[in-house]
Amino acid sequence: MNQESPAKTRRRPPSTADSTPAPIQMIDLVAQHRTLASQTEQAVLRVLAEGQFILGRDLARFEASFAEYCGARHAVGVSSGTAALALALRAHGIGPGDRVLVPAHTFIASLLAVRYVGATPVLVDVDEVSYTLDIEQTAAAITNRTRAVMPVHLYGQMVDMKPLLALARRHDLVVVEDAAQAHGAEYHGRRAGSLGHCAGFSFFPSKNLGAAGDAGLVTTRRADIAERLRRLRNYGRTSHNDFAALGFNERLDNIQAAVLQIKLPHLDAWNDRRRQNAALYHDLLADQPVTLPTELPARRHVYHQYVIRTDRRDALMDHLAREGIASGVHYPKPPHKQRVFEDLPATRGRYPVTERLAREVLSLPVHEHLQSHEVRRVAREIGRFFKKVS
Ligand SMILES: *Cc1c(COP(=O)(O)O)cnc(C)c1O
Repeated sequence: MNQESPAKTRRRPPSTADSTPAPIQMIDLVAQHRTLASQTEQAVLRVLAEGQFILGRDLARFEASFAEYCGARHAVGVSSGTAALALALRAHGIGPGDRVLVPAHTFIASLLAVRYVGATPVLVDVDEVSYTLDIEQTAAAITNRTRAVMPVHLYGQMVDMKPLLALARRHDLVVVEDAAQAHGAEYHGRRAGSLGHCAGFSFFPSKNLGAAGDAGLVTTRRADIAERLRRLRNYGRTSHNDFAALGFNERLDNIQAAVLQIKLPHLDAWNDRRRQNAALYHDLLADQPVTLPTELPARRHVYHQYVIRTDRRDALMDHLAREGIASGVHYPKPPHKQRVFEDLPATRGRYPVTERLAREVLSLPVHEHLQSHEVRRVAREIGRFFKKVS
């Protein structure tokens, strides 16, 4: 999850003496900013000059734009993706005594959000191909205390929502999508954030749509839930001096909203670039002894991460690093093995697919500013690695 520091992502100046190729990073926020620098700087300066920082016009405008982009009725900007998920659960009244089904293979924040509202996460193993919630095992995990399910659209591909929504309807479960890695991802033509009761988005800088700091958002179809979310993010305030609920201070500020508003029109093109890079890897790595990601039918995968699998993962990662190529592991230690959750009875089960993924997954650079010659170089180094070790 760590963001590369700008100094590390800056390209090396061309050098005549040294023919070492420039390092390849997992993300390049400096290059991204360069393409939008003057617009972004103007917008930030305008907000500063207007002196409207909290709950202002820029926030309202971005909420309307993002809701429309997702095909959701309402959007409520909040301070982070983690806050978005927790407030979404809370707005639906989920709390102590309630159980929430969460995939075992996810970023820890999905589980933290469940704990913040006092509910208990119940982990479900993921499907071997999509790396997202296994629907049959989700059905098997439902008890009379289960109140909600959190489909995580991991790596940028959406969960199989049709059977999941049918299951949720049958058991009266609230569906909170974790869409932190899936801005613009589609399932049967519908975008992430438009299918569940609520969806939580993160605009952490390295996500497909990132702010200049922490930011998040909740989408929902219901006006009353949107109203509750607006209250919850703002101290529980109902009018200037009236506070009706135990709220939080978890608003999205106007400077971040203004930055996001400028980036949003570029999201589809950026996702297309990610998809082109993924398609090129797919061709170039077809003959290598690695498992490639699968784009399932009727999905638009937005490749927040391009994740391959190999039992030589650590050695391959070292080889790439020696050649100046960054890669990542999402995630090497699953939430149920983390100390913070060691006394959680519901996480003491075994999750064989999740545990295998923790040993085998490797995320390759796939970001929108990665050039095709760089994708070729990464693929070439992977080929060299396997030639050497075979
Ligand atoms: C990034 C992320 C989050 C948390 O978002 P923050 O904005 O960092 O709080 C939650 N779930 C998943 C799957 C994520 O990737």
